[in-house]
Amino acid sequence: MTRQRRVILKILQDGGTHMTAKDIHTKARQHDQRITLTTVYRTLDLCKSLGVVNARQLSREHGPEWYEPATRGEHHHFTCVRCHHVIEFDAPEVDQIVQRLTREEEVTVTHVNLTIYGLCATCATAEAYDLLPIAQAQAPQTLTEAN
Ligand SMILES: [Zn+2]
Ligand SMILES: [Zn+2]
Repeated sequence: MTRQRRVILKILQDGGTHMTAKDIHTKARQHDQRITLTTVYRTLDLCKSLGVVNARQLSREHGPEWYEPATRGEHHHFTCVRCHHVIEFDAPEVDQIVQRLTREEEVTVTHVNLTIYGLCATCATAEAYDLLPIAQAQAPQTLTEAN
């Protein structure tokens, strides 16, 4: 693995949150100006194929993919369609669904990607009173810090 790839992987592992390729690129350039967005995408693709990194569809429709280290283990996501805040949760019920599907349909499940969409508590309140403008594509970690 090249030095640039190591920088990218370390950012993702230390980040402790979901990041887009652009987020990772911004941070990577603080370590090495020569790292391009293409290198970030290539590294992420490699890490995905090695099973080191998971890609998640956390934004609505055809938004960017969010990446997180695979070491975080099996969990699911709620994402706010208004401010893009992400809440992670465990769901043993999903294991039951997988077991039933395996039994009844004789399929082999390789991975589960469950994302539930809606309004977070803050946005549900704001929406009710129509107080806050819709936040445009804000990264979840930015919002976590703001809270
Ligand atoms: Zn929200
Ligand atoms: Zn996650």
